Amino acid sequence: MTPQSDVSLQALNTLAVPARARYLTPANSIEDLREALAFARERALPSLILGGGSNIVLSGDFDGVVIPLQLRGITCLTEQEDWVELSVAAGENWDDFVRYSLAQGWFGLENLSAIPGNVGAAPIQNIGAYGVELSSVLTSVVGLDLETGAERRLSREDCELAYRDSIFKGALRDRFVITEVGLKLSKVANTNLSYPALAAEVDASASPQEVSAAVRAVRARKLPSPAELPNAGSFFKNPIVSSEQADTLREIHPTLPMWPHNGQYKLAAGWLVEQAGWRGRSGEGEQAGVGIFREQALVLINPGRCPGRRILQFASEIQASVHAQFSVNLDIEPRVY
Ligand SMILES: Cc1cc2nc3c(=O)[nH]c(=O)nc-3n(C[C@H](O)[C@H](O)[C@H](O)COP(=O)(O)OP(=O)(O)OC[C@H]3O[C@@H](n4cnc5c(N)ncnc54)[C@H](O)[C@@H]3O)c2cc1C
Repeated sequence: MTPQSDVSLQALNTLAVPARARYLTPANSIEDLREALAFARERALPSLILGGGSNIVLSGDFDGVVIPLQLRGITCLTEQEDWVELSVAAGENWDDFVRYSLAQGWFGLENLSAIPGNVGAAPIQNIGAYGVELSSVLTSVVGLDLETGAERRLSREDCELAYRDSIFKGALRDRFVITEVGLKLSKVANTNLSYPALAAEVDASASPQEVSAAVRAVRARKLPSPAELPNAGSFFKNPIVSSEQADTLREIHPTLPMWPHNGQYKLAAGWLVEQAGWRGRSGEGEQAGVGIFREQALVLINPGRCPGRRILQFASEIQASVHAQFSVNLDIEPRVY
């Protein structure tokens, strides 16, 4: 393993931020990964495990060791009449895996079609779309505990999966490298059309393959391809507020979309950003080259391929204006480095 030094990360993050890494060393095996982590530790440098780079904002150059995790392989652990349990290596591309599973007649991931990134990152924020979250199929996660250096298996419960959240963003943040993800998929079609935009696209008897195609069609209309218009998907999380705050907001803003969420309410962040006047708007002066996508107010775009610092300044203007208008805090969804 010979790490490269002073490497551009622009092609490795979907916001196309022109940051550089002090060192970069891809890991194609667990041995590579251990070596790369040891290289960082010996130099007292931080490390950054990289998947598809579709959920990060690089606020500047990364003064440490970037490790693109490229472990590959899909193993069937158990096969029963109605279901299969699989172990999928962290470096597999998520959407290639979704297509593969559908082709095998293994269902449950159709609503999660076309999400960029790799399998290893999927549990980090418990990826979700069109009424389904990874938590509905995840059984376990295997990885390296960086504190002990030992391999560790976490059960689904251990992962503490929640809305765009998990233990990997909390107690195990920067402490655990996911190397394999365990998933249980059904051999029996049981489609989920609870999401209105999806239900409008297909009829109730649609097959999982048809649901996947519909998800792809809806996403293609609503979300820009990072290759054409750099972005990181939803830039803000849907805020969760108390039922008292939800009541107050509903009285003042009767059209604000909200859903019950574990005794609280989840608000539509896109609606808040749009109402605050940001949809389709570009940054000015210092923030020129950054903007909010015209078709979807949740998506921050970086057509100017600007530095992360500018993106974060633009985002904080949006956060401040939403707070001034609605007294609601918007949190950034991607991880900021
Ligand atoms: C156009 C677009 C649409 C999107 N749509 C959705 C959507 O519908 N739903 C959704 O939930 N997300 C969505 N996202 C966000 C993103 O695709 C997901 O969060 C995805 O899981 C990130 O995967 P990645 O491999 O690119 O992660 P990266 O951006 O490479 O990494 C994200 C974070 O996870 C850490 N990480 C990555 N791999 C590992 C690992 N193996 N072990 C430990 N830490 C790791 C990284 O260090 C980093 O902190 C979208 C993004 C884009 C650009």
